[in-house]
Amino acid sequence: MVARRLVEALVERDATSRWDVEVYGEEVHAPYDRVALTSYFDLSGPEELLLGDASLWDTPGVTLHTGTAVESVDASARTVVVGGQERRYDALVLATGSYAAVPPVEGADLRGCFVYRTVDDLDALRTWVSEREAALGRPVRGAVVGGGLLGLEAAGALTALGTETTVVEFADRLMPVQVDAGGGEALRRLVEGLGVAVRTSTATSRVVADDAGRVERMEFASGDPLDVDVVVFATGVRPRDELARGAGLAVHPRGGVLADEGCRTSDPAVYAVGEVACVSDRVWGLVGPGYTMAEVVADRLLGGEATFADADLSTKLKLLGVDVASFGDAFGTTPDSLEVVYADPVQGLYKKLVLSLPESAEGPATGALPDAATVCSCNNVTAGTVRCAVTDQGCTDVAGVKACTKAGTSCGSCVPMVKQLLQAQLAEAGIEVGNDLCEHFSLSRAQLFDVVRVSGIRTFSELLTTHGRGRGCDVCRPVAASILASLYQEHVLDGERAALQDTNDHVMANMQKDGTYSVVPRIPGGEVTPEGLIVIGEVAKDFGLYTKITGGQRIDLFGARIEQLPAIWSRLVDAGFESGHAYGKSLRTVKSCVGSTWCRFGVQDSVGLAIALELRYRGLRSPHKIKLGVSGCARECAEARGKDVGVIATDHGWNMYVGGNGGFTPRHAQLFAEDLTTEQLVRAIDRFLMYYVRTADRLQRTAPWVESVEGGIDAIRAVVLDDSLGIAADLDAAMDAHVGGYRDEWAATLEDPEKLRKFASFVNAPDVADPDLAYVPERGQKRPATAEERGVVIGGPTLPVRTAGGPL
Ligand SMILES: Cc1cc2nc3c(=O)[nH]c(=O)nc-3n(C[C@H](O)[C@H](O)[C@H](O)COP(=O)(O)OP(=O)(O)OC[C@H]3O[C@@H](n4cnc5c(N)ncnc54)[C@H](O)[C@@H]3O)c2cc1C
Repeated sequence: MVARRLVEALVERDATSRWDVEVYGEEVHAPYDRVALTSYFDLSGPEELLLGDASLWDTPGVTLHTGTAVESVDASARTVVVGGQERRYDALVLATGSYAAVPPVEGADLRGCFVYRTVDDLDALRTWVSEREAALGRPVRGAVVGGGLLGLEAAGALTALGTETTVVEFADRLMPVQVDAGGGEALRRLVEGLGVAVRTSTATSRVVADDAGRVERMEFASGDPLDVDVVVFATGVRPRDELARGAGLAVHPRGGVLADEGCRTSDPAVYAVGEVACVSDRVWGLVGPGYTMAEVVADRLLGGEATFADADLSTKLKLLGVDVASFGDAFGTTPDSLEVVYADPVQGLYKKLVLSLPESAEGPATGALPDAATVCSCNNVTAGTVRCAVTDQGCTDVAGVKACTKAGTSCGSCVPMVKQLLQAQLAEAGIEVGNDLCEHFSLSRAQLFDVVRVSGIRTFSELLTTHGRGRGCDVCRPVAASILASLYQEHVLDGERAALQDTNDHVMANMQKDGTYSVVPRIPGGEVTPEGLIVIGEVAKDFGLYTKITGGQRIDLFGARIEQLPAIWSRLVDAGFESGHAYGKSLRTVKSCVGSTWCRFGVQDSVGLAIALELRYRGLRSPHKIKLGVSGCARECAEARGKDVGVIATDHGWNMYVGGNGGFTPRHAQLFAEDLTTEQLVRAIDRFLMYYVRTADRLQRTAPWVESVEGGIDAIRAVVLDDSLGIAADLDAAMDAHVGGYRDEWAATLEDPEKLRKFASFVNAPDVADPDLAYVPERGQKRPATAEERGVVIGGPTLPVRTAGGPL
C-alpha cells in the first residue's frame, strides 16, 4: 500500500523524468487495499480490491513487477538480487510491510490454522471452510486467537462464511489496547449479539490434531477445551525487516528498520517506509503514518527536506453493526484528566471522553472544525483541505472530494465527516445540497427504492455493481436490506441479506441492557385468548423470563439468552404466535380500545379493525418503525392520534389521521380523510404506507416525511385519494403483493437449520449460561443486577454512570 502511495507521490511531482522507478512485489496482485481485506469475501475477485487508478503503472518510467520477491540487498554495491539476477539502484526504498505473527503455541502450524494478512490467506481460509463443511456435513467450528481489531474483523468474516466462531483473547476484555473495562464489556455484548462467542482471560496452550493432522481441538491454560475445525491467528504483526538485516542495516531490537525523520536508514541510499520502518523509535502499524512516510521520501528523492513528525493513531473497528472508535489518551493517563462516561446499555452505547479541560465537555460541531483539524488520519487530510476542495477545486460530491484530497480513501471511517464538511461548505456557497444516501450511492433512499423496483434487482451486490460504487457501508447496507425486504417478501436471514442487517434484525429479537434479548410475540389488536396467555406465562416461567405488558398492548418477555431464542419461539409458534417484529423497522402494533362490542360508548368495532390492519401490514419493512391505532369512538382510548396512522370511529365510518408519533418529539397526527367506509379506509392506509415506504428517507418517520413531501399533507392526500400521480394501482398492487407474500419470520427460521446456526452463545457448550449475567429478585420477578449489586464499578472516578431508558 505504502509503495503505491510513494509511486503516486513521485508521479504527482513529475519525478519520473529524474528517476526510473522499479517496484518489486512478492504477491501476485498489484498493490491492493489491505485495510479493506475483509470485504474481499463480498467481492467477485481480487481486482476489485486494487488501489486507485491502474493507469499509474503505465506511467513512463514506472515498472511494476508482481509475483517477484527481492531476495537480498547489497547496500555497499547498491544492488538487489531478483530471480538470481543483480539489479543496480541509486536509491532503494524498503516498503516490505509486516507478516502476521503467530505465537509459539504447539500445533499452531497444523492444517486448518491460518493467518489473516493477504488475499492468498483469505482464499486459503475460504477454501478450507467450504471443504470442511462439505466433508463434515455440519457447520464448521472456528476460533480466532486474538480479540483485537484484526481478530474481531476476522471473526466477523468467519461468521459470514457460516462458521460458528469463538474469539479467544488473552486479556480480560476485547480490544484491550483501545478500550477500558466498560467499553470492553459493551463491545463483548455487541459481538456476542452477532453470534460470535467470546472467551477472555484465556491463554491458548495447545492446538491438537486429528488422525489426518487437521486441527481438532484447542486447549487452554485454564478452562474447558474447544472443539474446532479452523483456527485463525490474529495476534499481531512483525515488520518484514529480513532484507535489511541481511544487508547489515540497523534494525530495532524488537524489529523494524531504523530510520530517521527523513525515513533514511543507516545507509543513506536506503529508505524505509510503512509498517517495516521504525521511525521516531516505533513501528506504526497503520496505513496513515505509512502514507505520510511515502510523501516524505518522495520529497527527499527530489532534494527536499520533508520530515516525518508524528501521526494520528486513531483506530476504528470494521465490523458491521459494532462501531468502536478510540483515539487520543483513551485511558486517561494524562495527569488531572477527567473522565466523562456515558453508558446506555439498552442502545449498546458506551462513550468515554477524557478531558484535560474540565470546564467544558462540548466539542465543536463539524461545521466549526478548525481548518487545521485532521479529518482523515489515514491520508492526513485536514478540514481546511476538504473545504478548499469545494471552494477552490469545485468539488460538489464526496467522490470528488475523495479523488481530489484522498480523504476517506483508505479505511473510510471519516467519510461521514467529510460529507458533513462538504455539505456545510456547499450550503455556505449557496449551492444546492444533494440528498445522496451515502458515498456509495448517488441516489436518495427513494430513488434507490425506484431503481430496485423497476430493475428487479434482488441482491445488494448486484445493486452496488449496477448503481453504486465501492463496497457499501453501514448506511447503505441496512437500507438496501430494508428495500429488498419491502419489495420481495424474502426472509431477512436469507443469503447475503443476513450480513446486511443491524444487530436486532440479525437475531430477530431486541438486545437489552444486560446483553440478553426480549421476545415479543404478535398480539394483533391487543386481543389474546386465555389459552394464549397461559402459553406465554408457561414459556416465561420455564425459561425464567421477566414479563411486562408493553405500551403497544402486547407482552414482552425479557432476559432470554441468544441460544434460548429458538426453543422459546418453537413453543410460541406451536401455540399460534408469530414474530411481533419488535426489532424491525417495520409495523409494530395496531393498538385498539375495547370498541363497540363491549364498550357502552363505542360506535364501531375497533378491535376487529385493528386486528385486520395488524394482520394486513405485519412484516412490512419500512424506513422507520410504524405504529397504528384504532379508537372505537371520539373518546380516543387507543390514543390513535399519537400514531403514524390513527383511525377514529365516527357514526358514519372512520376518520383517518396520519403523521403522529410518541417518542423524543411527540407529534399529533393530522386529519387525512373523514367518514371512510372500512374498504376505503384500508385502501387509503395501503397507499399511504406504501407511498411512505417508497419515498421516505432512511430513518425518517411519517411525521417528518409528511412535512418533507412537496405540498405536504395535501399533496399526499391527492396521491392517495385522487391518484394525482397515476400510481395508485401500482401502490395497491405492491401492498397486495406484500399481504399475499407474508410469512412469519420465526416460523421460517425454525424450519431452517442453516438459519438456526446463528443462535449460539458458547458454540462449544450451547447449554452453558453466560457467567456474566446476574439477576436480583424484584416484585416477584427477576431483573438485571445493577453495577453496584454486582460489585462492579463502571466509569470514571468522578462521574456516575448514566443510563438512558430507566428501569424496566
Ligand atoms: C485485515 C486487515 C485490516 C486492516 N485494517 C486497517 C485499518 O483499518 N486501518 C489502518 O490504518 N490499517 C489497517 N491495516 C494495516 C494496513 O493494511 C497496513 O498498515 C498497510 O498495509 C501497511 O502498508 P505497507 O505498504 O507498509 O505494507 P503492505 O501493505 O503489507 O505491503 C508490503 C508488501 O511488500 C511485499 N514484500 C515483502 N517482502 C518482500 C520482498 N522481499 N520482495 C518483494 N515484495 C516483498 C509483501 O508481500 C507485501 O505485498 C489492516 C491490515 C489488515 C491485514
